Amino acid sequence: MNELRVRIAPSPSGNLHIGTARTALFNFLFAKKNNGKFVLRIEDTDLERSNEEFTQNIFDSLKALGLNWDEGPDVGGNFGPYKQSERFAIYPKYAQILIDKGFAYECFCTQEELDAEKEQAKNNKTAYVYSEKCRNLSAEEKQKLIAQGRKPSVRFHVPKGREIVFNDMVKGDLKFNSDLIGDFVIMKSNGTPTYNFAVVIDDMLMKISHIIRGEDHISNTPKQILIYEALGANVPTFGHLGMILAPDRSKLSKRHGATAVSEFVEKGYLTEALVNFVALLGWSPSDGVEIKTVDEIAQDFRIHEISSSNSIFEYDKLNWLNGQYIKKMELKVLADKLRPYLSKYNLNELSDSQYLKMVEITREPLVLLSDITDAVEYFFGDYPLIDSDALEHINSDIGQTVLKDVSEKIDNWDFLNLHQILEDFRTYYKEKGIKPKITMWAIRAAVTGRTKGADMCGIMEILGKEKVKKRILNVLK
Ligand code: GLU
Repeated sequence: MNELRVRIAPSPSGNLHIGTARTALFNFLFAKKNNGKFVLRIEDTDLERSNEEFTQNIFDSLKALGLNWDEGPDVGGNFGPYKQSERFAIYPKYAQILIDKGFAYECFCTQEELDAEKEQAKNNKTAYVYSEKCRNLSAEEKQKLIAQGRKPSVRFHVPKGREIVFNDMVKGDLKFNSDLIGDFVIMKSNGTPTYNFAVVIDDMLMKISHIIRGEDHISNTPKQILIYEALGANVPTFGHLGMILAPDRSKLSKRHGATAVSEFVEKGYLTEALVNFVALLGWSPSDGVEIKTVDEIAQDFRIHEISSSNSIFEYDKLNWLNGQYIKKMELKVLADKLRPYLSKYNLNELSDSQYLKMVEITREPLVLLSDITDAVEYFFGDYPLIDSDALEHINSDIGQTVLKDVSEKIDNWDFLNLHQILEDFRTYYKEKGIKPKITMWAIRAAVTGRTKGADMCGIMEILGKEKVKKRILNVLK
């Protein structure tokens, strides 16, 4: 049996979109499950919209998600080059073969002529299909048009009266009437290929066996099948994935939140959570356990079971999943991942072990990595910012009593570790007959400037006796 080969073919006209990441993931999983090859091809034929920065973003984002490719522009392979802009010499050759075999022809129509045809169809309330006006031009007629300075495009001739049928791995049998397609351009008059042509030539030459992509490409598929057939090539098996919609059922866009993988990462999402989340947009685990690594998902992945309908991108669910990943991540790994979000603080104020302890006691409520920025503010600087609720606790009579007492006793407390701090406070509650809760409210308010936060004894252990005392003295009346 021939090798199973799939590909992802993004156009670098933007940062890697989360929807493209899902398409990449499903291709990757399908290849992994079937011992196939996963190819990355950069479709940068639209030179005006493509740029190197976006290409780099695509590489970086796919790598960050763990979707490594077997062949591609950077790693090479037997079927390169893997950037369409480096393949420009290939396409005219195949266009010529199609012309020679009578499957395609040169079209000299100007934009104005084509617009007029479209306008006519609109007036007649009929679907527009090209008139085929240039299909049977004689050699002299062509010469004349060329002499006028016209540069031809190349059109593929769509046979009439045909039903084009394919069995989609996700959507089942799909049928198209060729009469509605119309002869379409495969090479533009500037000598560059159109998407529908370049994609077929590349997939054919790269021996791609299965094409898994978004359903927005379904209407392109019959055109592509006709080109494969005209070239006498094997038609690959197609699978079209439902779209990803925003919670309001509209197309996912910037106004709903992040859309590019790199934007999610900047906002503090873990790539492990992101890749797990996008897998759940269309795929369901057979054992009902949703939190899974890519390897585990690959074991359980069956392309035919992918949902054929659209999926809703629930940001709330992604947030939940991200929080779960943060909770179960190894402390040291998490501590490293959090560093970029703490650049506004002087991390040298803490030793390595204090830093680890700080992460340990503040990680629990984090949903995004970036939530750490605010969560640990009071660990840095001499004094914390005090919010209005905390101020009330500080200024109450009982608050002032507690703070004064503790400021006097603290010199005799050794603050060696968390348990010792807790013990000293316990002795104090008992002695004074003050509730632990009341005591800690006042202490928390003075030391952190807040009424909520991580374990208070843990915070004091990290800050140390001197800083705690200084902060308490600072708010005594
Ligand atoms: N460059 C196309 C896109 O980004 C690829 C479509 C395909 O997979 O055929 O939509």
